[in-house]
Amino acid sequence: MARILTGIQSSGRPHLGNILGAIKPAIELSKNPQNESFFFIADLHSLTTLKNGVERAEYVRAIAATWLAFGFDYQKNVFWRQSRVQEHTELSWYLNCFTPFPMLANATSFKDKSEKLADVNAGLFTYPVLQAADILLYNANIIPVGKDQKQHLEMSKDIAHRFNILAGEDILVLPEPQIDERIMTIPGLDGQKMSKSYHNYIDIFLPENELKKITKKILSDSKQLEEPKDPDNDITFQLYSLVASQAEVETMRQNYLNGGYGYGHAKQALFECFLEVFAEPRRIFNYYMENTEELEGILVEGEAKAREIAQDTIGKVRKVLGFSS
Ligand code: ATP
Ligand code: MG
Repeated sequence: MARILTGIQSSGRPHLGNILGAIKPAIELSKNPQNESFFFIADLHSLTTLKNGVERAEYVRAIAATWLAFGFDYQKNVFWRQSRVQEHTELSWYLNCFTPFPMLANATSFKDKSEKLADVNAGLFTYPVLQAADILLYNANIIPVGKDQKQHLEMSKDIAHRFNILAGEDILVLPEPQIDERIMTIPGLDGQKMSKSYHNYIDIFLPENELKKITKKILSDSKQLEEPKDPDNDITFQLYSLVASQAEVETMRQNYLNGGYGYGHAKQALFECFLEVFAEPRRIFNYYMENTEELEGILVEGEAKAREIAQDTIGKVRKVLGFSS
């Protein structure tokens, strides 16, 4: 039985990139009866960049509702908010003391972020240690991640190994990243990686008129309606090929090549495709966003399951460190 673990930060509403790049593939993996899935909302991590508590609470609900909207089986698996299982922060402190400073200083994602963000805080610096705690608390062995996360996973392994050496036994399970090369980086409205923090994302749960407006904002070149167009260098076409059926994609490709088909037509087709393909997830998402008590109940139930496992691990760690008798 493989234990799969993944988390999404509550730093904004989940977007098409998160859904196609992380949520849907993780749910697919979770359907394998050989697997046990641990999916959590990384609300503590979001504090490194988002300070507003009202917004965070809203994003936590939106992320939880998204997992459920795409069919995550929370009863068979484990689904929780990181902040509600305090063992995450406790283990994170212990692991901080097993993490060499240069290892964090050399993290490329920290270097990137510290160049881009105005607020470069210590939480951002020690982020990989909290991430190691998230993984190691649950003895997770498979961590599906994007290529950008590979270095962080190496750190988790290294930190676990250092702790195990002190303990003289394999108390912490060394995790393996599972990098799915097929999962592409979904482009945003401007063609850069779609990201919450770049404000170039498509929120497929928006009300219809807003979703239509945002779809119209996708960047395109200035070719006129009658001119033939290059589908392979167009963002609208790229996004359409990720959501539409093969036959629909082929039809649009031909329309581009033939000319007499404008970007406005393509964007309208993409918008309609979003409504059709995501009709059921949109319905479920709205249901949970309106029935927040039910959503809360699901998370609280998941947190009890998560806590039990986390407490078992933390008990062993405390013992090694002399924090319990
Ligand atoms: P932020 O801008 O705050 O970093 P984000 O939009 O990059 O937010 P994350 O919470 O960092 O989202 O990522 C959650 C998951 O979604 C990760 O597994 C990440 O690899 C995946 N993901 C994020 N953006 C994309 C994208 N454009 N294409 C494919 N996968 C993505
Ligand atoms: Mg990101």
